[in-house]
Amino acid sequence: MQINIKGLDDYRFHRPLQLIANLFFEETEIVMNENDLWDIKIQFDLETTEFVKVRAVLSDRKGNEHSASFERSLSENLTEKDRFKQIKNAVSHVYLTVLQEKTGITQKWGILTGVRPTKLLHRKIQEGVPKDIAHQQLKEDYLISDEKISLMQQIVDRQLSVVPDLYELKNEVSIYIGIPFCPTKCAYCTFPAYAINGRQGSVNSFLGGLHYEMRKIGKWLKENGIRITTVYYGGGTPTSITAEEMDMLYEEMYTSFPDVKNIREITVEAGRPDTITPEKLDVLKKWKINRISINPQSYIQETLKAIGRHHTVEETVEKYHLARSMGMNNINMDLIIGLPGEGVKEFSHTLNETEKLMPESLTVHTLSFKRASEMTKNKEKYKVADRTEVERMMYMAEQWTKNHGYVPYYLYRQKNILGNLENVGYSLPGQESIYNIMIMEEQQTIIGLGCGASSKFVHPITGQITHFANPKDPKSYNESYEKYTEEKLKILTELFLQESSLA
Ligand code: SF4
Repeated sequence: MQINIKGLDDYRFHRPLQLIANLFFEETEIVMNENDLWDIKIQFDLETTEFVKVRAVLSDRKGNEHSASFERSLSENLTEKDRFKQIKNAVSHVYLTVLQEKTGITQKWGILTGVRPTKLLHRKIQEGVPKDIAHQQLKEDYLISDEKISLMQQIVDRQLSVVPDLYELKNEVSIYIGIPFCPTKCAYCTFPAYAINGRQGSVNSFLGGLHYEMRKIGKWLKENGIRITTVYYGGGTPTSITAEEMDMLYEEMYTSFPDVKNIREITVEAGRPDTITPEKLDVLKKWKINRISINPQSYIQETLKAIGRHHTVEETVEKYHLARSMGMNNINMDLIIGLPGEGVKEFSHTLNETEKLMPESLTVHTLSFKRASEMTKNKEKYKVADRTEVERMMYMAEQWTKNHGYVPYYLYRQKNILGNLENVGYSLPGQESIYNIMIMEEQQTIIGLGCGASSKFVHPITGQITHFANPKDPKSYNESYEKYTEEKLKILTELFLQESSLA
C-alpha cells in the first residue's frame, strides 16, 4: 500500500504518518512527494500562526474521497520542539480521521502510537487539570475512545492507591538487573537472551561484571543517601543461573545496596518453569524474595513447541505448586494473546487453566511482531489470528479478570502489536508490582545493571529523561562493564548532586 502525501514539506511528519498508517494496513509505504505509484493520495492544507489549522482530503483510485479538518490554538512560549509536537498532533488528527473513514476501522487509541498512554493522564493530574476536563482533552486532542479513557483512569487510580507518593519518588531510584541467559531462545523473543548450555565461561565472566556494577553503584547510592524503591531481576531468565550463583548475587545485593530491608519490593523473573528447582526457591526464600514470575504464555503444548519454549504445560503447573508450597506468596504469570495457531478456543482453555492456579497477578500481552525476532523473520510460518479474533480474546481477558477479582494496574503498548491493542497487567488488589508502575510511568530513575539493561535517568526537577544502555551481548559486556559503570556514575552525579545543591 503506497500512500502519497502532498502539502506537507517538513520531513519530520514522515515517521508519525508512517506509524499511524501501520495501524490500518500491513506493509505501508509513505511517499512525501509527487509520485504516480499510489493507492491512496492525501492532500493536506496546513496553516500555522497562533493557530494550527489543517485539512486533509483523501482520494483513492476508485475516485472515493474523504475529508477532515481540525483547528486549535497553539500555546504561547513553546519551544520549537513542543510547537512542532502540537502541529504534528493536529496533522495526525485529520489523517487518522480520513483513514478511519476510508477503512471503516476505528482506532480506539486514536492518534496515540506511543508506549505509555497512562503517562498522559498522570501529567494532567500533576498539572491540576480536573478529571472531566482531562478526559475531554484526551478525547478531543488525541481521539482516544471513551472505553480506553476509562481504562486509563482505572489504572491511574489504582497506581495512586498502591503508591500514594508516586509523584514524590523522584529522589529515590529503582534498580533493574539483567541476566541475559535462558535455557533456549523463544521464537518471538528480542530480549538479550542466550541459550545457557555450554556457556559457563561466559556466565562466570558476566557475573563477575555484574557483581562489580552492583558494588560500585551501591556504594555511590549509600554515600549519597539515595534510597532504592524497588529491585527487579529480569533478562533473559534470572533463574537460569545456578542456585549458588543466585545465592552469591543476592548476598551481594544485601551487602552493597543501601537499606535493602526497607526496599518496597524485590522481584525475580523465573519466567521459564524449566529453570525452577527447590534449591533455587530456597535461595529466594533465604533472601526474603517472595515476588516471582512464572510464565506459562499458553497452556497449549503445541503452541509452546512452535514458539521454542522447551517445557511442558505440566511443568508450569508443577513448578507453580512447588513455588507456592515453598512460601512464594506473590506469583505473577504472563499470558500472550494471539500466539501462532491460537484463537478464542485455545485462549479460553488457557483462562480455564489459570483459574485453577489463581496467581496474585496476571500480565496479558498481545503478541507483537518485533523486527528482530525469529517469528517476524519467518512470518509465513507463524499463522496468527485476525484483528477481530484478537479483540475478542482481549475482551475475554478483561471479563475473566474482572469476574475473578483482578484489577488492571498498568498498561503499555508496542509497535506492530496485533490489533493495535495493549498489554495489561492485572492484579488481585494489594499485590500489584510497584516496579511495573515505576517503569511505565517514568516518575523516577531506573538504573540498569547487567547485560542489555537500559537505564532511564529521570531528572528530579525537570522530569527530562536520559536513556543509557548497557551492551546486549555478554562478550561486549564483559569487555566493557567498568566503562559503562563509570558513565552511569557520572550521569547520576550530575543528576542528583546538582539537584541537592539546588535544593
Ligand atoms: S524465556 Fe523470555 S527472555 Fe528467554 S528466550 Fe523466552 S521470551 Fe526471551
